Amino acid sequence: MENLSKATIALHEGHDTNLTEGTRAVPIYQTSSYVFNNSEHAANLFELKEPGYIYTRLNNPTNDILEKRLAAVEGGVGAAVFASGASAIATTFLTLFKSGDHVVSSGSLYGGTFNLLNVTLPRLGIETTFVDADHIKNIKDAVRPNTRAIYIESIGNPKLDVLDLKKVAEVAQDNDIPLIVDNTVATPALLNPIKYGANIVIHSLTKYIGGNGTSLGGAVIDAGTFNWANGKFPEFTEPSKGYHGLKYWEALGEIAFIVKLRIEGLRDFGGALSPYNAFQIIQGLETLQVRIKQISKNAFELATWLSEKDEVAWVNYPGLKNSNYFNLAQEYLSDGQSGLVTFGLKGGFSAAKAFSDSTTIFSLLANIGDTKSLIIHPASTTHQQLTEEDQKTTGVTEDLIRLSIGLEDINDLKKDIEQALKAI
Ligand SMILES: *Cc1c(COP(=O)(O)O)cnc(C)c1O
Repeated sequence: MENLSKATIALHEGHDTNLTEGTRAVPIYQTSSYVFNNSEHAANLFELKEPGYIYTRLNNPTNDILEKRLAAVEGGVGAAVFASGASAIATTFLTLFKSGDHVVSSGSLYGGTFNLLNVTLPRLGIETTFVDADHIKNIKDAVRPNTRAIYIESIGNPKLDVLDLKKVAEVAQDNDIPLIVDNTVATPALLNPIKYGANIVIHSLTKYIGGNGTSLGGAVIDAGTFNWANGKFPEFTEPSKGYHGLKYWEALGEIAFIVKLRIEGLRDFGGALSPYNAFQIIQGLETLQVRIKQISKNAFELATWLSEKDEVAWVNYPGLKNSNYFNLAQEYLSDGQSGLVTFGLKGGFSAAKAFSDSTTIFSLLANIGDTKSLIIHPASTTHQQLTEEDQKTTGVTEDLIRLSIGLEDINDLKKDIEQALKAI
């Protein structure tokens, strides 16, 4: 059937029960490798002459179903899953960029991604210009002849900025470079960046998609819309030394990138997702739609309530009317603005640190997107290694407390915050 909704796709896509002994649940294919019918079959698989499984670092039937579901819910032509979000991001960069290349990135990024672009990739000759992406002109002005991508988060973590995706995509298109969007915080249930012109979408599956805080995972989804033959990406048009002369664009067309990411990226960098974790993440994806809507509702209500507290200096949630991103959130996130809320206490850095020590339902830890509510004070933890200037670039202020709202009863969450405010 055509045009099924995302909730239905998330439950059914990619699983043909006739091929799995009728199992209603997606089975875990816990195997490292696959028996070839004969040596010719093996040769054909390695030459990509026929589809099939070779080795779980490259592909696996459980992972394959997760990939098909993620591609379908994001509206892409294909997906590849990875051991973590960080691995998905790094493998994408190392597949697309080489020494001498340049990236334009929003400065409002997950701390790990910021470090990768700011410290690790420059070591390999890949430079990034970080910009305040609220102003499209900043992105335009930063593009150089050697720029090979624009990188953004659809909702920045932890700044919670919502970017004008259509306008950012226009800049990418005008410059013949792909727009890569980390859609982890928004999730495919609330926002599909491909609809607005993103060429590549990345997720940390560890967060809302897995949803229960049990398993790390990452994914890359290819929109299939980028013209890799525009002269800026000769690795896609010239015979590949890494895959016995394969010309990716000529042989594969719209799936050129996602295939290269798998057969060179997963082969060479090895960030494969374990089938057991793929199974866990599939359980999460199946209920994402209902979870993220309830989580968004809880987050909005809590943010509104926090705004009225005497001890609170400011609250940031893209669904609040006084947010700088309210209008963009209405346009791009009309079904909900996800579960992250940040706020500051009048007592500043020390009050924030003490508060994060005083909650009992909110767990103090470095994760987001769990069914359980979480809290962290980034300036003293996740963003502690950054210089003061880099903290500013990534949107972290000294007093910022980040909450990741879960599925507990909202009144119990309020009670917990009340008692923590009293305790400090
Ligand atoms: C957590 C996170 C990542 C990294 O994902 P891991 O699964 O932890 O490796 C990347 N981007 C965003 C927005 C994240 O929140």
